Amino acid sequence: MNRVKAVLVEGGRAVVLEVERPKIGKGEVLVRLAACGLCGTDVERIRGGYTAGRQVIGHEASGVVEEVGEGVEWLRRGDRVVPHHHTNCGDCYYCLNGSPTMCPEYRRHHFDPGGFSEYFRVPEFIVRRGAIYKVPGGLSLEEASLTEPLACCLRALERSGVRQGWTVAVFGVGPMGAIFLELLRSLGCEAVAVDVKESRLRFADSLGVRALDASRADVDREVRELSGGRGADLSIIATGSSAAIVTAIRSTRNGGTVCLFGLPPRGTKVDQDFSELLVREVSLISSNAATEEEMVEAIRILEERRVRASRLITHRFPIERFEEALRVFESGDGMKVLITP
Ligand SMILES: [Zn+2]
Ligand SMILES: [Zn+2]
Repeated sequence: MNRVKAVLVEGGRAVVLEVERPKIGKGEVLVRLAACGLCGTDVERIRGGYTAGRQVIGHEASGVVEEVGEGVEWLRRGDRVVPHHHTNCGDCYYCLNGSPTMCPEYRRHHFDPGGFSEYFRVPEFIVRRGAIYKVPGGLSLEEASLTEPLACCLRALERSGVRQGWTVAVFGVGPMGAIFLELLRSLGCEAVAVDVKESRLRFADSLGVRALDASRADVDREVRELSGGRGADLSIIATGSSAAIVTAIRSTRNGGTVCLFGLPPRGTKVDQDFSELLVREVSLISSNAATEEEMVEAIRILEERRVRASRLITHRFPIERFEEALRVFESGDGMKVLITP
């Protein structure tokens, strides 16, 4: 009972270990894992170049409160929750000037030992900031584990100034791209999915979205044809592919917006004539992570089934089969891959 299974990063790979069950202190909360989604950033942490020290993985978690520390009055053992792995301080320069996810505190706090653990500790700062959300009765904990990725997508759409009726091209139909497609449908936008992988194009098609194969189609021309000859009002890059960035800019209408969302590999350079951006007044923006407002909104959207979480969750693996989960995730054949206890 004092040992728990957890996935940790050691020497550039993910290993399943038995670790001591985290102990909580004053103001902290211990959560028993229900589900934690695998995210591209986890893979980056496992496989990426920065393996110095231990990398914390697993941040799209949901679970049940097992224990609350002294002073935590608003949560009780047995509460079904989604904790946010990061949160901002609320009163630094960045927080007060519209960049809460750039708050120096934002990335300093995280689950211990991580979200892929039978039990994990939510640190005092996150609890004090109220960044733990009770899951409404009508929502399963598996569905609720989509809260954080959905919140990130919501923030990107807000920053992009999306409007009903817009044609929005989504480059990359991975788990995030798929969430975007669902969100755009609920917002009354015309989504166009772009990918190079057959299974992902089929998935977009199964969601009722027009899908373009970037390895064959003349994507920018087709996107223009689908939008009265103009091009996409908004292009979202939900992949790390640098080729997609160039195609997305070309596919965007005059005065439109391109939103960088997927993380390109470190050092990525793009061969792009920047005068085109100015002449055609195409805005290039980025969106990184999510705030608490978006977490709250994401839970509401999931509860109201405006995004169909059950359609997006394609795989579930228990902690001890993490390696298999990683293989499925990296093959690109799955959408949302969940790790369960
Ligand atoms: Zn994530
Ligand atoms: Zn701050």
